[in-house]
Amino acid sequence: MDRLKGKRALITGGTTGIGLETARHFVNEGARVAVTGRNPATLGAARSELGKDVLIIASDASEVPAQKKTAEEVREAFGGLDVLFVNAGIAELRPVEQWDEASFERSFAINVKGPFFLIQALLPIFAIPASIVLNASVNAHIGMPNTSVYGASKAALLSMTRTLSGELISRGIRVNAVSPGPISTPLYSKLGLAEADLKAVSASIQSQVPAGRFGNPSEIAQAVVFLASDESAFTVGSEIQIDGGLGNL
Ligand code: NAP
Repeated sequence: MDRLKGKRALITGGTTGIGLETARHFVNEGARVAVTGRNPATLGAARSELGKDVLIIASDASEVPAQKKTAEEVREAFGGLDVLFVNAGIAELRPVEQWDEASFERSFAINVKGPFFLIQALLPIFAIPASIVLNASVNAHIGMPNTSVYGASKAALLSMTRTLSGELISRGIRVNAVSPGPISTPLYSKLGLAEADLKAVSASIQSQVPAGRFGNPSEIAQAVVFLASDESAFTVGSEIQIDGGLGNL
């Protein structure tokens, strides 16, 4: 129960889904935790769910100045940071001809640009050692229709995992990634699909997963705890695929 005892951790998008579950695991493992989110309703729900010891930060993951402000809030509250889980992200799925510039830029701003500048803003306060875990996706590896922009944004995160791991390890900062397959979270209800279409999409995705089911957020959180903890001290620039076998087809 003490695998993260004494660690100070920041989870972006820690108000629902994988981020919220990871926040619960981090707290149970003895970490001091801060989470970010944007939606006032889910920020409020996370505050009730996680309790008063968890710092809740309203911060838009797409905006560069907001990343600097978040880093400052973490410094003021914790004095430094041992673990960063870069998790906030959106999945907009649609055929290539239905994309416009604004939607493309929104996906990349939230999934790639904000994370990059958050890491940059946090560099002065990372402890030695520190661990950064990026939440990518199986969609960086497979040719699932309608995921061109989402998959490209996650492939960018995986590239950054490798390059930043090489750049930051000499400062004592490890960078690794998790790549989930389909996980049961509110992400799917945000796809803008009618209920019947959502059921059909979910059934189609599930039928492609060798394990025959969606994963649970805790199955990702457990891997993030490992990468965040000193148990993974020699794990650098790597990716753990947790996808029921989907990425290996
Ligand atoms: P989720 O329940 O929708 O969680 C997304 C989280 O990100 C929420 O806390 C959300 O907060 C936050 N977020 C989104 N846009 C934001 C913004 N602009 N600023 C600040 N926070 C923002 O979905 P999830 O499935 O847990 O997704 C978490 C991560 O896992 C994402 O990066 C996703 O791409 C990745 N992933 C998910 C799956 C899956 O099947 N579920 C598979 C592979 C990878 P608000 O409520 O405030 O928007």
